[in-house]
Amino acid sequence: MNGPHFDHRHPDEHAVGSPLPMPYLVDGPVYTPGQASAPAGAATVFRLASNESPLGMSDMARDAIFGVAGNQHLYPDPDGAPLARAIGDVFGLDPARIVTSPGSDIIINWIIQGWVGQGSVIYPEHAFQSYRIRAANNGATPVAAPEVDLRTDVQAILRCVSPQTRAVFIANPNNPTGTWLSLEELRSLRARLRSDILLVVDEAYFDYVRVRGYETALALVDSPAANVIVTRTFSKFYGLAGLRVGWAYVPTSFVRVFDKLRGPFAVSRIAIAAAIASLGDTAYQTSAYTHNVRWRTWLQDQIRGLGYRTTDSVGNFALFQVPGGADGATTLNARLAAKGLLCRVANQNALPEWIRVSVGSADAMTAFVQALSDLSRDARHR
Ligand SMILES: *Cc1c(COP(=O)(O)O)cnc(C)c1O
Repeated sequence: MNGPHFDHRHPDEHAVGSPLPMPYLVDGPVYTPGQASAPAGAATVFRLASNESPLGMSDMARDAIFGVAGNQHLYPDPDGAPLARAIGDVFGLDPARIVTSPGSDIIINWIIQGWVGQGSVIYPEHAFQSYRIRAANNGATPVAAPEVDLRTDVQAILRCVSPQTRAVFIANPNNPTGTWLSLEELRSLRARLRSDILLVVDEAYFDYVRVRGYETALALVDSPAANVIVTRTFSKFYGLAGLRVGWAYVPTSFVRVFDKLRGPFAVSRIAIAAAIASLGDTAYQTSAYTHNVRWRTWLQDQIRGLGYRTTDSVGNFALFQVPGGADGATTLNARLAAKGLLCRVANQNALPEWIRVSVGSADAMTAFVQALSDLSRDARHR
């Protein structure tokens, strides 16, 4: 046999048996999706568990989908180049460095496969669950850095760095906390991390945020050190979660490796067409922003008014703490679901006492607040 042989069989299984998966995949964690259907009996169901757009997709995207519907016998562009060009035009980026993907979650996996290997990955303790899950299922070591007041703590991340650290993942703003870091904080983190550690800034909720001090980290990708990646998605703000389209802006030297990790034809013809059309639909984008800021503000005010603690979320969701520990949150979440309001307990993010609720339609928001108010009154009278 040539080269080192990695024997991953259990000692008892040296006899001939069926093929075995890599050991880290046997017990690796599984992604828990938000609840998508209600228990029997709920009259109207509002999906508020996955941060999906309440506006539906853009009409221009729908037209674009029908426009290419007849061409599905043809492979799409192998690299999604037309989409990369459209993204480049809109955001003023070099299209050659835009990696398109079937959703941005898979980019996390590619980064770990390509640049982490058996090394370790640091992320804030209440981060998006995929960083931990993807790391563990690739044989890398997930390392959770403590947060302060449910906000990413740059110092704590730096304290977690070890010789094994290969990448740091930060969602900005973060899901499910909705808290964010300024570009200055990210810059200072980058400056104090070893240059061979990759910093990944996941901007899945970028388009919802217009607060002073918050900026995209795209400028950091251009640094000569070539050690920052920014990811974005069409799933949330652009309302295309079902189609699976995302992208990353990466240093030039990374592009060829991403091409190999992704393989050809990863983004479908329909997804490319719809995403390009969505980028051009500025009226849709204005409504998406306006609806979200209005209802998120109202939702957070109402939840606080009922006596719950919330974070200051800038995303398309709110997060609130339920008294009574993890059981309290699970019970309340089940009672909301029984009324057709599907939310999510943040137990996958080490916040088992907290419930995340997405910003939905006006009807969904009023129904949610009414239900929460009723359930909270019931709880107080018990
Ligand atoms: C929703 C989400 C994503 C990924 O969404 P895709 O549908 O895979 O593009 C990535 N990061 C964060 C923080 C998210 O909340």
